[in-house]
Amino acid sequence: MDHGAGAERRHGVRFVRIGWKTQPTMRFVRHVLQSVTVLLLTLPVWVAVGAINGFAVRSLPAVVVGAGFFASLVALNVWNVLALRAGDLARIRPAGAFAEVSFAIGAYAALGVGLGPVHGAALFFTCVPAVAAAFFGDNHLLGGVLCVLAVALAVQASLLYPAADAITVTFAFAGGTAVLAGGTQSILNAAVRDMDRLSAINTLAATASTLRHWPGDLVPVAQDLAAAMDVDRYAVVERPPQGGPVRLVFAWPHGDWVALSQAVSCADEAVLTDRPVTRSGLVATPVPRSAPPAAPDAVVNARNASLAVVTPRRSTGRVPVDTRQTGTVAALLAAMSSRAVLVDDLTVLANTDELTGLANRRRFFEVLDRDIARAARAGTPLAVAMIDLDHFKVYNDQFGHSAGDVLLRRFANAVAGAIRAQDLLARYGGEEFVLVLPETDVVGAEHLLQTVRQANRTAGVGQPVTFSAGIAVWDGNEAPDELVLRADRCLYAAKTAGRDQVVSTA
Ligand code: GH3
Ligand code: MG
Ligand code: MG
Repeated sequence: MDHGAGAERRHGVRFVRIGWKTQPTMRFVRHVLQSVTVLLLTLPVWVAVGAINGFAVRSLPAVVVGAGFFASLVALNVWNVLALRAGDLARIRPAGAFAEVSFAIGAYAALGVGLGPVHGAALFFTCVPAVAAAFFGDNHLLGGVLCVLAVALAVQASLLYPAADAITVTFAFAGGTAVLAGGTQSILNAAVRDMDRLSAINTLAATASTLRHWPGDLVPVAQDLAAAMDVDRYAVVERPPQGGPVRLVFAWPHGDWVALSQAVSCADEAVLTDRPVTRSGLVATPVPRSAPPAAPDAVVNARNASLAVVTPRRSTGRVPVDTRQTGTVAALLAAMSSRAVLVDDLTVLANTDELTGLANRRRFFEVLDRDIARAARAGTPLAVAMIDLDHFKVYNDQFGHSAGDVLLRRFANAVAGAIRAQDLLARYGGEEFVLVLPETDVVGAEHLLQTVRQANRTAGVGQPVTFSAGIAVWDGNEAPDELVLRADRCLYAAKTAGRDQVVSTA
């Protein structure tokens, strides 16, 4: 991937920004600096070649220019090595690499002319830095370096050969180098794309472990999933945990990118046969059998096997899509989906009272916070009612604890059936219940409790049990627990006033 590369316009002039082949890391920069150091170490080769030639200095100015280029190359290299030692990657810029390569080309070309060694060797060494640039630079950097090389070769050849030969030699060496460097770069680009895919998978694995909603959470990671599989479109197909036909749960970049029914039937076969299935330009990859289980639970594993990813048959690089890679992504998605189901189940458990199936005290305060915020925004009233069964201890003593449990459940059902959809009934603890009543004032709350009283009477509970209740209406300012405390005080007043009644405060 070319980071920071591209063209930009300033004052009407088109500037090309050169960049690294990949995001620079310590390891990458060390690799670059090492390859430049290798270039420096070939200096003794030049000295040896010069020696063979009897150190005949053909042109002193050329030797001086070559030495100047070498000195600049060494200075830049030392500067970059020091930046690497200091851990300051920002100081090592693509433009610096471009300058290093250009200095190396210039130095070899000038020394080739000045020392007058075997011509072929002179031209060959001049080309070496350009090929090295293909290892770390993007297209723009490589293109720039090839231009520098062509100029250096032209100057060098024109000083060494008659005009006609100089043109042929320049074209031969510059063209050969361009082909070599281009080939090297395309091979490296493929390797870099693989690295990008791996890093996309790593990023995904880290992100996926924080997600909770399936398949909604696929939206923010959709692009990364495509990068991980190296495709420009894909669909996720799943067999519901209860079994039945597979269904499409997600498609990227948009829902109708392909005959989706075909994608679904292709995925169905993949899930059934547990192996990748290819059909009319599509590949469906199920979760591989060898994928690590998302949880040590047979049910969850069985669920994993019922998910498949459908992609085009060819990757963005126009090579066959790698089904090991799509299989890894399918396994990751299966883990995400199982995790989301698990989190949902746990959330329900954490919010539910076991005996009655009502919301518990924790959920009650959550809803109260939310509804108070809504009431504040909308400027509507909100009431809370605390309900406590009368003499429940006596009932327990008389009929037994399990009969008490049955009564609590029936009471919960009766009240739940009497309230409105927006109201919440929660078990506050023991034989105490609480109601959150949005958009309700004192009159409305009292009226509702009359309905509840009626429902309790006709609920068919063996021995009739009455209840007392306290109602408080949010004053527009107080904290949730203060509101609950006021309702509780009213409940206490109802108890002391003889039970089986409702006391309210505005
Ligand atoms: P009051 O009219 O003053 O509210 O009298 P009460 O007997 O209802 O109140 P008290 O607080 O004295 O007793 C509450 C009883 O509720 C005691 C306890 O055994 C019973 N209880 C609490 N939770 C449960 C439960 O889950 N199941 C059953 N069966 N009984 C419960
Ligand atoms: Mg009671
Ligand atoms: Mg009580």
